[in-house]
Amino acid sequence: MFTDKETFKQAFLIRLETLCGKQFEESTTRDHYYVLGHMVREHISRHWIATNERNRAQKRKQVYYLSIEFLLGRLLGSNLLNLGVRQVVEEGLRDLGIRLEDVEESEADAGLGNGGLGRLAACFLDSLATLNLPGHGHGIRYKHGLFDQKIVDGYQVELPQQWLRHGNVWEIRKEELAVEVNFWGKVEVYEQNGCLVFRHIDSKKVMAVPYDMPVIGYGTNTVNTLRLWNAEPAKTFPLHKDVMQYKRETEAISEFLYPDDAHDEGKILRLKQQYFLVAASLGSIVRAHRLQHGNLHQLHEYVAIHVNDTHPVLAIPELMRILLDEEGMSWEEAWHITTHTIAYTNHTTLSERLRMAIHLFQPLLPRIYMIVEEINERFCRELWERYPGDWGRIEQMAIIAHGVVKMAHLAIAGSHSVNGVAKLHTEILKQREMRLFYEWAPHKFNNKTNGVTHRRWLLKANPELSALITDTTGSRWIHEPETLIELKPHASDPAFQQALSAVKQQRKGKLAARIYEKTGIRVDESSIFDVQVKRLHAYKRQLLNVLHIMYLYNRLKEDPHFSIYPRTFIFGAKASPGYYYAKRIIKLIHSVADKVNNDKQTNEQLKVIFLENYRVSLAEEIFPAADVSEQISTASIEASGTGNMKFMMNGALTLGTLDGANVEIAEAVGKENMFLFGLTAEEVLNYYEHGGYRAHEYYHHDKRIKQVVDQLVNGFFPDVADYFEPIYDSLLTQNDEYFVLRDFAAYTEAHERVEAAYRDPARWWYMSAVNIAHSGYFASDRTIAEYAVDIWGISPSM
Ligand SMILES: *Cc1c(COP(=O)(O)O)cnc(C)c1O
Repeated sequence: MFTDKETFKQAFLIRLETLCGKQFEESTTRDHYYVLGHMVREHISRHWIATNERNRAQKRKQVYYLSIEFLLGRLLGSNLLNLGVRQVVEEGLRDLGIRLEDVEESEADAGLGNGGLGRLAACFLDSLATLNLPGHGHGIRYKHGLFDQKIVDGYQVELPQQWLRHGNVWEIRKEELAVEVNFWGKVEVYEQNGCLVFRHIDSKKVMAVPYDMPVIGYGTNTVNTLRLWNAEPAKTFPLHKDVMQYKRETEAISEFLYPDDAHDEGKILRLKQQYFLVAASLGSIVRAHRLQHGNLHQLHEYVAIHVNDTHPVLAIPELMRILLDEEGMSWEEAWHITTHTIAYTNHTTLSERLRMAIHLFQPLLPRIYMIVEEINERFCRELWERYPGDWGRIEQMAIIAHGVVKMAHLAIAGSHSVNGVAKLHTEILKQREMRLFYEWAPHKFNNKTNGVTHRRWLLKANPELSALITDTTGSRWIHEPETLIELKPHASDPAFQQALSAVKQQRKGKLAARIYEKTGIRVDESSIFDVQVKRLHAYKRQLLNVLHIMYLYNRLKEDPHFSIYPRTFIFGAKASPGYYYAKRIIKLIHSVADKVNNDKQTNEQLKVIFLENYRVSLAEEIFPAADVSEQISTASIEASGTGNMKFMMNGALTLGTLDGANVEIAEAVGKENMFLFGLTAEEVLNYYEHGGYRAHEYYHHDKRIKQVVDQLVNGFFPDVADYFEPIYDSLLTQNDEYFVLRDFAAYTEAHERVEAAYRDPARWWYMSAVNIAHSGYFASDRTIAEYAVDIWGISPSM
């Protein structure tokens, strides 16, 4: 139905009638979206079935990627692109007077994630399918994804996201594959044929109903599956007076995505979500394996289960439960299979935070808790034999200690692979955060530097740049992103530079139009577009960026000889609803924007824009238009970052610290092709360990700093009273935990280097081209190929 324009049009119009019951004339954009989505599903259904069939028939090892978040964004455009039918559809619709772009924009973002971690999972799915790898996602079908952000008077307001309001064309409900999940109740122990048998009784049952979504690879017939679980009342609905409460409690499990776990610790609902995901996923994985193999003795040879961060770590005791209680295996065999099946990715160096209080855990999951206790006992015994008498070490490594379960310790003990997400991050895990575990089992530790799918973030988001690349070096880069390096010889070619800058100009114009539409502010399209888009977090240091803008403003006001190359500073960031400090920073950005944008003396040179509701679809408009990529986290804290990679691919230059994957970007492009500044990870970690930093010294000795910090509280922003006082206090009273003031001077100086480079177009566009040329390494195809070989032991199947 997509073979040519005419066939497509015919098929489209017929389905418009059958699916929507409408003549073309009365149809709406949403109808067009719905019909197109259906046509794609119809088109791929044979391949979807064939992929599943092949997986069954070939008995190949499968990988299941368990993640509490999948930040997919919109799917229509990328599905059409991956199927290679986007152009036919675009032209066919144009004949009918429909703009494909409008249809695509009518799709709600599937925002089932907070940020980097969830987006990584989505990029991985794309690469798995494209590389014909048998890899599938398991997640939760949240009714409401990450909240929609509205800005009212400069303050963030959260609205529930309603992505399912008009249904979801991509999903298929598979009620017959539902899995029962048990909470609460108690464990009965009795003896049978000389063995202890455990039975979980009086539990509250929840049905996990899978909704399957196709994951379509680029230019391949492989269609993998993302299975999202929905929580529903069990079939044997308990008919008592609490029936309404039971229904509400059950449905609450898949109702909301938690907006950032760092600020919602110890919540019972969160633990419920985690076990719900794990029990449903393992239930369905094990059922499929049993059907094929009859038993689970070889599970680890045919199944790899990946635990994305600690949220799904209960996969370890849950698999043990299945093998022990349902299969009757010995502990030793069950442990062998479990640890050889499960692999774990660590996403944060603050692993010590990932704890769950026993008093919450034990009553909710009594049998699982018993198993975790046994795992802990055996683990500590093993440590005791290895390190006799070293109580301190064992206490620090224990899985259960001082009333909490340490989820990261359970993940390391119960898996065969522990990976960090960038070289620096993995080194910090090995040398500091998890040093004792690394000493205990060095073979488990490995690095897998993150990547992003260049098909969404370059090919789809930036067709203009993609066309230039293909015109210059051919289209091999789409399948083999590392061949982008072939651009490098063109980096100093004036004609190529000209074309590159024209593409950037075009996309800046497009973003400027969007900015005007959304904010009513006109920005100078020839100014430097300097962008910081990411979640709002103190460690990501949006504050450093803002304070620097305040300094530029002050200087422009006070120093008649001072001028700058015009800048447009663009922000996008959601703050977790309970993270009050972050919300104050959002307000600060708006207060500064108000001042700067409305001051005739400065607003030709300086503009500050906050784009509300930062999400995948908005990100796709921003990256192609960026000149400067702000990656300014306090060194050592950002595990990897992936925004940095998306910017790089789109030819933006990084202004950043040597943190996360910035380090590897610098290794790839050379330090001279980015703008590095500030403390190194080593220096930061030394400060944290030994002290010695005194923020007030920087405040007193640098007039620029004193001025901007004072302005937070001295009435400079008259409308906010003392709203910014906690920010002021964080810097001075609390000694500036993230070294904002320490790095201020270096950051200012780095901005001066940015400006000097931008004033020299030959240099700037050379640097930009070099960044694009080296971005292939940061494609998730490379990352996934490494996971496939080093961790999962899977190979392409087609
Ligand atoms: C890539 C991405 C992120 C992660 O950005 P970082 O700069 O790595 O923190 C967060 N949100 C969205 C919508 C993204 O696309």
